[in-house]
Amino acid sequence: METLIVLFSLLFPALKVSVPYDMISHYYYGCGGYSPEEEVGMSADALDRMIEDASRMIAGSKHVVALTGAGISVESGIPPFRGPGGLWTKYGEPDNKGYQRFLQDPKAWWEARLRGEGVRPEMHSFDGAAPNPGHYALAELEAAGVLKYLITQNVDNLHYAAGNKNVAEIHGNRYKLRCISCIARFPQGSLPLDDLPPRCPECGGIVKTDGVAFGEPIPTDVLEICRREAMSSDCTVVIGTSAVVYPAAELPVMSKRRGAYLIEVNPYETDLSFMCDLSLQGASGEVLPTLVSRVKELVAGKR
Ligand SMILES: [Zn+2]
Repeated sequence: METLIVLFSLLFPALKVSVPYDMISHYYYGCGGYSPEEEVGMSADALDRMIEDASRMIAGSKHVVALTGAGISVESGIPPFRGPGGLWTKYGEPDNKGYQRFLQDPKAWWEARLRGEGVRPEMHSFDGAAPNPGHYALAELEAAGVLKYLITQNVDNLHYAAGNKNVAEIHGNRYKLRCISCIARFPQGSLPLDDLPPRCPECGGIVKTDGVAFGEPIPTDVLEICRREAMSSDCTVVIGTSAVVYPAAELPVMSKRRGAYLIEVNPYETDLSFMCDLSLQGASGEVLPTLVSRVKELVAGKR
């Protein structure tokens, strides 16, 4: 089934791939005893109880994987792309030909980029952004040996800035460049731009920015990590994303099908909530520090 999703997504990359809920319905076993009524406008007590339950699930798991999206960076002042206040909500979603335009004329694409074309004023918020307590909590969770891998849809580099090391960036990193032939990555500014397009020092291939353009396939090394981690995870924590866009959409489903716990941290109910074992409704910058501190206590108690 995963293969079918992948094929479908490759054929129609512009489409949001619906999470095939029927695949996981028989694995869904409720939200740890919390009725849906309790989750609406979650009280502080209910949230505290869920944080305790989530901490126990995480501390008792062997291979915890986190999947993050725009929600965690909104708390660092970075606007999301989709949803209320999103860049594409305001300006309209770009067409699906960005990568095609790059391939047709990489030199012109680079020249337009260097002229600043297509840069919205809000995008400057990236440059002053710093990790928030949610990012730092995830770095602590990795340092404690609990979080094995972090997969993010964000391009803002804030997980690395917070100290995470095992990071897979599905949509690339806006501070890096990437060779489209051998997938080698280079820090922005490390390659000369006087002769466009820049060439890969390792294989001579054409270099573009690492951020994945519309219509561009997700780099294969990242996809491999995502699949490997989804298949290894016994507890997946989804933070600040409804994970409806491929390939992020398939990761929680793959984990869940294998019987992994699925925990969500999001201020609002999402399309993923119903399949989660626990859906913690709150700001990740507030929920994650409490959660991680409790996980560390539990893990320390086991040693
Ligand atoms: Zn190369």
